[in-house]
Amino acid sequence: MSWSFETDSEFQEQLNWIDKFTREEIEPLDLVFRGPGDPWDPDSPAAAAMAPLKEIVKEKRLWACHIGPELGGQGYGQVNLGLMNEILGRSRFGPSVFGCQAPDSGNAEILAHFGTPHQKEKYLQPLLDGKIASCYSMTEPQAGADPAEFTCTATRDGDEWVINGEKWFASHARFSEFLLVMVVTNTDVPIHEGASIVLVEKGTPGMEILRNSAVGPYVEQGDGVHGYLRFTDCRVPADHLLGEEGQGFLVAQTRLGGGRVHHAMRSVGKLKKVMDMMCERVLSRTTKGELLANKQMTQEKIADSYTQILQYRLHVLYTAWLIDKHKEYNREVRKEIAAIKAATPKVLQEVVYRAMHLHGSLGMSDEIPLMYMWADIPELGVVDGPSEVHKVTVARTVLRDHKAAPGLFPTYHTPTQREAAMKKYGHYLTDHG
Ligand SMILES: Cc1cc2nc3c(=O)[nH]c(=O)nc-3n(C[C@H](O)[C@H](O)[C@H](O)COP(=O)(O)OP(=O)(O)OC[C@H]3O[C@@H](n4cnc5c(N)ncnc54)[C@H](O)[C@@H]3O)c2cc1C
Repeated sequence: MSWSFETDSEFQEQLNWIDKFTREEIEPLDLVFRGPGDPWDPDSPAAAAMAPLKEIVKEKRLWACHIGPELGGQGYGQVNLGLMNEILGRSRFGPSVFGCQAPDSGNAEILAHFGTPHQKEKYLQPLLDGKIASCYSMTEPQAGADPAEFTCTATRDGDEWVINGEKWFASHARFSEFLLVMVVTNTDVPIHEGASIVLVEKGTPGMEILRNSAVGPYVEQGDGVHGYLRFTDCRVPADHLLGEEGQGFLVAQTRLGGGRVHHAMRSVGKLKKVMDMMCERVLSRTTKGELLANKQMTQEKIADSYTQILQYRLHVLYTAWLIDKHKEYNREVRKEIAAIKAATPKVLQEVVYRAMHLHGSLGMSDEIPLMYMWADIPELGVVDGPSEVHKVTVARTVLRDHKAAPGLFPTYHTPTQREAAMKKYGHYLTDHG
């Protein structure tokens, strides 16, 4: 009997500590540091506030748990990471304090696999130590979901690659020490064989940030963290191409699969926080002589939210368990990752809306964090690929395990089935009569 829904007691103790630490030390950061880049920008005042907290996490051996022991992580596996992220997701700062924040977590994995010894020394270690930030840049102004539309190129010239083109929504570009940029290196073959990833160091001549966009209405225009980049004859050394030329998507897979699961894990944390808020509110507010919690229409909202969150959480943990089991992002794993990726904005949309609604005017005011959470939901349906694309992945993978009906009518066509069933068991009817 190998199915289990329990956390072993030793790890549970660590989770209990993480929960207390997150509530007492990390969540207050959200109330003080509200700049769009604060959790990730090494030059933000929040970085100084986070520094002692990071040291405590390191001492507790809970730092960068997404990576294996060979790189200084704990290698706890995805299920344990999921349980941790459920707690860290309560705060914007949780992942940064625990050294597992996007996009640095995935970029570190790419560097670890494909970087030269010099690149690892210069960038990987400081990145793993949480001292620098990094950027992964793939989307272009005219194309995101469909890479076949990418036009930013790198051409080989002697010992260098020369990059020309534009990139869009490159998160954290403005304070990153280096960028991993997806470029077309061969225009004569399909994009999945003709794209590569190059490392571009901060300040490389020919790379400029045209402007920085923000998500949501709460940021001054231009003060966002998502860079609109232009490359004009931007030269990088030949060994800055990571992995094989033309294998950019294979290299990217190292980070995208894990990144999507981690977003989902953190979303579980956010959902649990919203559920706590919703329950507290309906148990505190009286209307028409009784608690809001006693109204059946409120109870339906609580019940539906509880059920949706539990279903989503189990799906996320099941996906994590599959990754631990297979130790790779195979077809089965990719199907589940795509499914939870598409489910994430939907469950948040429904649960956060109910919570806001039950809080009445307070729920949509700036005095409670629900509106901030609400403003963040649309990005989860778009970032790392729109829901439609992931649903197509799920549907195609599911359909691969099915076949067309062998004849004119479906397999479960009752008259046809009944005829066969009668041949097998019909004589019991006659014998009985
Ligand atoms: C907060 C945030 C951070 C981001 N960070 C980064 C980053 O660091 N680096 C980076 O490279 N990119 C980043 N992105 C960009 C993100 O990856 C793209 O937005 C995403 O891939 C979609 O591309 P697009 O915006 O060009 O939308 P489009 O490709 O134009 O798609 C727009 C809409 O068209 C529809 N659509 C698209 N394709 C299909 C299809 N096949 N079938 C049906 N409908 C479809 C969907 O409704 C989709 O939402 C970020 C985005 C956000 C919101």
